[in-house]
Amino acid sequence: MKTQIYLDYNATAPLRPQARDAIFDILNMHGGALNASAVHGFGRQGRKIVETARTQVARLVNAPPNQVIFNSGATEGNNTVLRHFLTHFPNEKIAVSSTEHPSVLDVSPSFLKIPVDENGIITPAALDDFLKRNSGVCLVSIMLAHNETGSIQNVSELSKIIHGHGILFHCDATQAAGRIPIDITEMGIDFLTLSSHKIGGGQGVGALVLGLCGQTPTLLLGGGQEKSARAGTENVAGVAGFGAAAQAAQEQMHTYANLATLRDDMENKLRSLCPEIIIHAQNAARLPNTSFFSVPFASAHSMLMALDLEGIAVSNGSACSSGTVKPSKSLLAMGASDTIASSALRVSTGWDTKEDEINAFLDRFEKILQRLKK
Ligand code: PMP
Repeated sequence: MKTQIYLDYNATAPLRPQARDAIFDILNMHGGALNASAVHGFGRQGRKIVETARTQVARLVNAPPNQVIFNSGATEGNNTVLRHFLTHFPNEKIAVSSTEHPSVLDVSPSFLKIPVDENGIITPAALDDFLKRNSGVCLVSIMLAHNETGSIQNVSELSKIIHGHGILFHCDATQAAGRIPIDITEMGIDFLTLSSHKIGGGQGVGALVLGLCGQTPTLLLGGGQEKSARAGTENVAGVAGFGAAAQAAQEQMHTYANLATLRDDMENKLRSLCPEIIIHAQNAARLPNTSFFSVPFASAHSMLMALDLEGIAVSNGSACSSGTVKPSKSLLAMGASDTIASSALRVSTGWDTKEDEINAFLDRFEKILQRLKK
């Protein structure tokens, strides 16, 4: 049996040891019965844990802790912001980039789609032009780093254009967090979405971080938790894992430079193994851990299966429902053909990836290519 190799961090990252310890510690404290909203001692213990995590998560994006609202993840964060504007500004429009995650794109068919270039990038000039041609927009949503290609938008410049038009800015920073520095104020972000499991903090937890605009979008009503911004008993253990992972990710962000070197070496090797390969968004600034490429003569479905048989977990990047692999909508929006969009594979690494694993991936990939070429 070959060693299994996990290269799918952009889908979900393994728990960091710091997060695992934090979660275990809390589950072992009175069986985890720490209702952070209760007035008794158990509750106060829970509250302290939640507030420590709030400070840790706030630091990751350089926000004041009281601007962090914990929730169940980035799907909820994105829905919260977009549904708030759909409900409260029914006569105004929302513009989103055409390569957003489905948790943005699928919220409403009414969204205006901002085109991207062949690297998945929206230039400030193109955005300005788009907003001049489309009046009545109240919110723009553009992600910081793309989940498939890893391309990074120049959010600091885009936010100036957006605010210049008197519009608020939502930024899904799910994939960027812990991998590149984020400063919510310097980047001019009004609403920022985070997810714990992408940074190794565990699934089912996230945060909406508020910028300076003064609005608090709310989706779930009920109890007064999170200062009434997000009802529901806090997931104390999950939040603690998120906080611990945020702190560890921030302290170890410098190690991502090594991942960029590993990724670049891997892509060079892939080019020599398969000159036909197309590496997506290669002319854009990209997350150091992400490589998205198409082998034009092999469908993503067959490659994923062949790699899985070799013990390698990678992904095709796009939402894969009921076991079917669909062409990447983002690549189609970037102008790729259906064949290229249907043959894209994503390799994404993270805090526990070793050079040996990339080498093993390359060896097994080469074997599959040789079989295919026969
Ligand atoms: N946005 C982006 C960019 C993502 O990559 C993901 C996860 N695939 C989400 C949102 C949804 O995150 P969650 O799993 O926390 O709901």
